[in-house]
Amino acid sequence: TALAALGEIGVQTRIISEYAPEPLKKKWLPKIAAGDFILAILLTEPDAGTDVPNYRTNTEIKGARAIVNGQKTLISRADIADLLIVFTRVNGAPGAAGIGCVIVEKGSPGYSAQGKYHTMGGEHLCEVVFDNCEVPAENVILRDNGMKKLLSAFNMQRCLNSSICLGMAEGALEEAVKYMRDRKAFGKPIGDFQGMRWKAADMMIEIEAGRGLLYRAAVSGDPFPDPTMAAMAKIYCNEMAIRVTSQAVQVHGGYGYVDEFPVSRLFRGARFGSLGGGTTETLRNLVGRKVVEHMDLATGIPSLNFS
Ligand SMILES: Cc1cc2nc3c(=O)[nH]c(=O)nc-3n(C[C@H](O)[C@H](O)[C@H](O)COP(=O)(O)OP(=O)(O)OC[C@H]3O[C@@H](n4cnc5c(N)ncnc54)[C@H](O)[C@@H]3O)c2cc1C
Repeated sequence: TALAALGEIGVQTRIISEYAPEPLKKKWLPKIAAGDFILAILLTEPDAGTDVPNYRTNTEIKGARAIVNGQKTLISRADIADLLIVFTRVNGAPGAAGIGCVIVEKGSPGYSAQGKYHTMGGEHLCEVVFDNCEVPAENVILRDNGMKKLLSAFNMQRCLNSSICLGMAEGALEEAVKYMRDRKAFGKPIGDFQGMRWKAADMMIEIEAGRGLLYRAAVSGDPFPDPTMAAMAKIYCNEMAIRVTSQAVQVHGGYGYVDEFPVSRLFRGARFGSLGGGTTETLRNLVGRKVVEHMDLATGIPSLNFS
């Protein structure tokens, strides 16, 4: 549910509200706001995820119609979506700047979407094939530089992704504390052992550090959060959630590894964060570029003008 909200609110709806023409906004936004429409976003292709300049999906505009051809993969909820927000070349324009955006409505002729992969987090991800899929030309809402425009919306999504990771880490800490109080070893609760208390302390410190970064990124929104702040929050919260949920599994001993205890699911669930919505490697590229290329050594960090 949280992952669905992340996509719907964080990116898909933002793209429509920022870039779609007025008639399409009027047509779709009320249904989205009422919760009647599910939206999917389609970037990743079988041979290129991070590597946007090598996306192959193409949309040819022919008079009043647009014809989409290509393949997308690892897509959330594409099999049940009412609108597919597809990042595509327009009229074969090359490179990253040639990527625009077309919206495909459910029932449009020429596309198929099937749940192909089952994830360790428990959801399905879809493969989508466009084979001469025909939509009205007005559905091509961005004709070029779509990725650049999309990335502004992604800074919001990056904060929501971080929030999910923060929530999973908090849940894992609470489960760990409960277990430390209930489980006894050598005649006393395991929470009495220093080894367990230090784990609780480290989990707590990491969670609050993540919360600090995330809240700072969130309040920078105008309307979208500062890209560097959002990237730093996402990197930290993604990796923090993996560490904290893993420690919670450890606190549970062998029971932490079985499906009957929630920490096992939280550990598997936390793994998604650093993969979608900008991998932690590409986000480190963004932060590193900002720090190395833009810091004025006379004033240091304040010169980077974080909001
Ligand atoms: C749960 C989940 C839901 C998803 N939902 C969607 C969705 O709804 N829509 C959608 O379009 N996609 C979705 N994805 C796919 C996701 O966006 C991609 O997996 C992600 O963008 C990475 O692309 P890739 O898998 O092709 O990896 P690649 O791009 O092949 O990268 C492989 C590795 O190389 C690293 N790498 C690549 N380039 C660089 C570089 N320049 N510097 C350093 N390291 C680099 C990456 O960080 C990664 O570690 C989802 C993925 C998951 C896990």
